Amino acid sequence: MKQTQVAIIGAGLAGLSAAKEFEKHNINYLLIEKEDIVGGKQKTSLINGYQCDHGFQILLTAYPEVIKQLNIKALNPYYFKNGAKVWNQTSFKTITDPFQNPFYLPFLLYHPILSWNDCWKLFKLKLSLKNQSSADIFASKNITTATLFETLEFSKKCQDYFLKPFFRGVFLDDELTTSARLCLFYWKCFLEGTALIPHDGITAIPHQLANQLNSKNIIKNTAITNINKTLISTHTDTRIKADFICCATDYKTAATLYNLPDKTYQSVTNYYYETDTPPLNNSYLHLDGSAGPINNFHNVTAINKHSSPKGKYLFSVTSIPSKQTSEHYEKNILNQLKLYFGNQIDTWNLVTQFHIPQALPHQSISHSVLNTHYNTQNTYFCGDWTVQGSIQGALSSGRKTAKQIINRIQTS
Ligand SMILES: Cc1cc2nc3c(=O)[nH]c(=O)nc-3n(C[C@H](O)[C@H](O)[C@H](O)COP(=O)(O)OP(=O)(O)OC[C@H]3O[C@@H](n4cnc5c(N)ncnc54)[C@H](O)[C@@H]3O)c2cc1C
Repeated sequence: MKQTQVAIIGAGLAGLSAAKEFEKHNINYLLIEKEDIVGGKQKTSLINGYQCDHGFQILLTAYPEVIKQLNIKALNPYYFKNGAKVWNQTSFKTITDPFQNPFYLPFLLYHPILSWNDCWKLFKLKLSLKNQSSADIFASKNITTATLFETLEFSKKCQDYFLKPFFRGVFLDDELTTSARLCLFYWKCFLEGTALIPHDGITAIPHQLANQLNSKNIIKNTAITNINKTLISTHTDTRIKADFICCATDYKTAATLYNLPDKTYQSVTNYYYETDTPPLNNSYLHLDGSAGPINNFHNVTAINKHSSPKGKYLFSVTSIPSKQTSEHYEKNILNQLKLYFGNQIDTWNLVTQFHIPQALPHQSISHSVLNTHYNTQNTYFCGDWTVQGSIQGALSSGRKTAKQIINRIQTS
């Protein structure tokens, strides 16, 4: 039987971030991961020379935990252009922040989607968010994101073509019943930073954390099958005795191991296509708020030229649940792409597709953002589901949970 002060179960961002904290404080720990790689939901596969993240994921440079825990420069980042290109039933129109891009200001005078009133409201919200801390935002009125947009009285076009598809893509929530607090928090992060993809794909983030750990403390290919207080059993029949357990798995696994109640999750499907002749070659996110099956897409190669073989282009297309209108998802996706770009879509080839049934926890207005109430005796839970479904949530939950355990160890 192995013995350790802390057993961390799961080497996603939360488990890795906790491990980093234990390492810093010379606490004896083991990080146990069921797969042969670290990173959990942050995976990248190389398929026929195309670098495909499992689901469209971006890192926001303004996430407070990213500033604390990651070395952004070392990720060799490639940045999205701030703003988005928005489908208005006939073509894609640019929406961007004129304070970051002053040349855009004249276009706002006769914008086909944003009214002057929308521009004024967006400006006022920007100022208000600038003066609010994250704590202020998480103490603000607890309403849904859809209600927030109504309350702020944005025009129907601004909501339908821009705001709704943008935040549906962030929350993977078609109805936008996700808490407006999260919406405002992300909004602030988008305004104060930039969205990036690392050179080696999203997997580079967990790898950066793992590289700071002593590899002898990481046990891969080992699934935890049972936990009896602080005695852990694995699928290989190895047993581990720990003073403390830091459970950093996804919620479904934590619920099975600890008999917790069910939780609702948001799912998503992500398609990757290759082409020789891209119909557009810019680094904007493209949004479609129509009833079609696509919520958003982008030219991955235009952002990160290393993501495809030379002379080829990779497009990432995201569809969220209620937009997947029939079992002929892929055909519907191609038809929607044809609506944008015409028959050249017939020459596109599907590289791969990922369906992720448990992508993000549904963060409704009754979702708790406090992780402490889950913790019992010598078992502590962390992971995005305890705080918020994001890189920020996973990193902060791991670091803060480790701190609580370290306090217990140091005061006992
Ligand atoms: C499609 C998609 C898009 C996203 N987009 C963004 C985005 O744009 N921006 C953003 O900030 N966030 C995004 N996120 C969220 C972000 O990726 C997650 O919040 C974060 O990666 C979760 O990390 P975690 O450590 O909490 O959980 P996980 O990544 O789920 O890690 C849990 C770990 O536990 C391991 N494990 C499970 N069971 C066992 C067991 N029995 N024994 C041992 N190990 C076990 C798993 O293998 C895994 O490694 C997205 C997520 C998805 C899925």
